Amino acid sequence: MSFEKLGLITPILRALETQGYTTPTPIQEQAIPVVLEKRDLLACAQTGTGKTAAFAIPILQLLYKEKQAAQAPDRHIKTLILTPTRELAIQIAENIRDYGVHTGIRHLVIFGGVSAQAQIDGLKRGTDILIATPGRLLDLWQQGHINLHYIRQFVLDEADRMLDMGFIHDVKRVITKLPQKRQTLFFSATMPDEIAGLANSILSNPEKVAVTPVSSTAEKVEQKLYYTDKASKRKLLVYVLKDPSIVSALVFTRTKHGADRVAKELNKADITASAIHGDKSQNSRQRALTDFKAGRIRVLVATDIAARGIDVDNLSHVINFEIPNVPETYVHRIGRTGRGGASGIALSFCEDEERPYVKDIVKLIKQQIPVVTDHPFPASEAPAPEAPAIQLRQSSSQQGAGRKQQQKRKWHGRPQQNKQKI
Ligand code: AMP
Repeated sequence: MSFEKLGLITPILRALETQGYTTPTPIQEQAIPVVLEKRDLLACAQTGTGKTAAFAIPILQLLYKEKQAAQAPDRHIKTLILTPTRELAIQIAENIRDYGVHTGIRHLVIFGGVSAQAQIDGLKRGTDILIATPGRLLDLWQQGHINLHYIRQFVLDEADRMLDMGFIHDVKRVITKLPQKRQTLFFSATMPDEIAGLANSILSNPEKVAVTPVSSTAEKVEQKLYYTDKASKRKLLVYVLKDPSIVSALVFTRTKHGADRVAKELNKADITASAIHGDKSQNSRQRALTDFKAGRIRVLVATDIAARGIDVDNLSHVINFEIPNVPETYVHRIGRTGRGGASGIALSFCEDEERPYVKDIVKLIKQQIPVVTDHPFPASEAPAPEAPAIQLRQSSSQQGAGRKQQQKRKWHGRPQQNKQKI
């Protein structure tokens, strides 16, 4: 399948060529024709599957054709894309800029945590596509800066994440302001009951598409496991990063403090690193991300929420400084590398207390994670080298913790990560 076969117009095909995209990803192959037919879409797809382009490309095409047919250009917002985080909003905007570079379609991105004035000025100038986080959208709407009457396409991105982050009421409020007659594209990585209910209530006869079950994402990433002690993890990280083949690494920590401490330690060891998390100002997060993408810093240390959707081409390594207690999070993390067909490597540091989490992960991804035994900071109680990760012995309290996690997942239909101190 090629992009030409999907019926895309030349200005978009040229832009995709510049991006180096040769073939559509499965979600793009399935979703683009549906969106071009102006039908509603319910897509079960996570970050890393090419989902942004799956909605951005056909929307740009629809708007381009409408603009060509129109007598005179107007300044109304025609497409609203709602996404949970600032980082995702910025990335969607960057993608739309890249794919739409030859179309003349305008876009604007608004999100909280920064002064609203530039965003208000942008709204006054007018835009075809508005990309927004829910809180800032409602603020500026209440202040009378946003007219939603002319929305023809509404994209709800990462709906399950909206629920996790407590934004679902804001999302529902936004929906009540939209015209009834519109095309709705609904994206979610998972479908817990509340999200399925919301989808049901706002979609009309949607085409349903689903891609890549979570376990297969892990197959294309080379994974390695280091057993160590909690106290040795920072030294192990510095040791591992001595390997020059690690060109760029995204390091995951569980807490904001942890991210700061790790970044500080790396800088002390002359390894360029920045931490990005919710306590940092929007400017400093953006600066860190830009420096990382430009190769000016080698390591970005992030919490899961801050890293969600971070879109870095050619990311060579993901390092799990701490093992996530929700196995799906592990897959989301390692999915940041090995994108667009590139091969990626994921290293995980496991301390004694985290062994049950590794067991859950192995069960989810249905593959063993090779253990690196040859390093200077082994766990005081290392498992036998030949013992596969799945056969690790657990203490009874650890087993209890693992079981509790399983029950939690079952009850909620999906992991509730917002309960953690992130
Ligand atoms: P997403 O799932 O939207 O976060 O996209 C994941 C990554 O895949 C982004 O870095 C995109 O630039 C890239 N990508 C999207 N579509 C394609 C494609 N058809 N070919 C190659 N890379 C792509």
